[in-house]
Amino acid sequence: MVYLKTDDEVELLREANLLVGKTLAELAKIIHPGVTTRQLDVLAETFIRDHGAVPTFKGFPNPYGGPFPASVCTSVNSQVVHGIPNDVPLEEGDIVSVDCGTLLNGYCGDSCYTFAVGEISAEAKALLQTTKEALYKGIEQAVVGHRLGDISYAVQAHCESHGYGVVREFVGHGIGKEMHEDPQVPNYGKRGNGMMLKNGLCIAIEPMITQGTREVYLQPDKWGIVTRDGLLAAHFEHSVCVRNGKADILSSFDEIERVIQTNN
Ligand code: MG
Ligand code: MG
Repeated sequence: MVYLKTDDEVELLREANLLVGKTLAELAKIIHPGVTTRQLDVLAETFIRDHGAVPTFKGFPNPYGGPFPASVCTSVNSQVVHGIPNDVPLEEGDIVSVDCGTLLNGYCGDSCYTFAVGEISAEAKALLQTTKEALYKGIEQAVVGHRLGDISYAVQAHCESHGYGVVREFVGHGIGKEMHEDPQVPNYGKRGNGMMLKNGLCIAIEPMITQGTREVYLQPDKWGIVTRDGLLAAHFEHSVCVRNGKADILSSFDEIERVIQTNN
């Protein structure tokens, strides 16, 4: 069931989502060749708890195996989503998607950013740029009078026009007191299809885009999702509310991008 949020609830969701942005900005400060994804995870968990929140990913149940063991998902290169942090140092030229969730004052934040590690190839830069553009093209459609399929179509059309694959197996979602609420928000679809968008609808829009074909498989750890052809994947996510007829982005990349600019 889709649960529309009051203005007060939207502000609580914004607080939780802004904390995700701040957490990812803290990680951005240390993302460089040699850092491990486990170090990112430890920093994220500490930062989230120091701000009075709980990392929602930690202990998240898995239909295929054990609960998620970390506070962020770190998906490197051909990993699409749900990568478990480990002790392998990141290398110059890698890309790493860091997906982060918080629970603050009873409401959830959920946002993801794909980072470059050092200098990356022109092909990798193009994938990151197109995936982020697709996220904002989807958000542009999150207005009263449109339908869910308009968001899905905008994301899909932008990525496929660049020759990229759109992962079908994982989708965006409603967000509120639960991290995953109705409705599902696919990154593929038809214009004019699906539910009408109404004020108070809060959703996470999260294109998961591949450099090659869209086929993926589940790693033996029962969490990591990897491209079948071994090519790169990128993932950007914002939590968004339809409010006063328009899209109101609750999470933020501002601090993350300030750190990236300063580091370069
Ligand atoms: Mg997420
Ligand atoms: Mg999400």
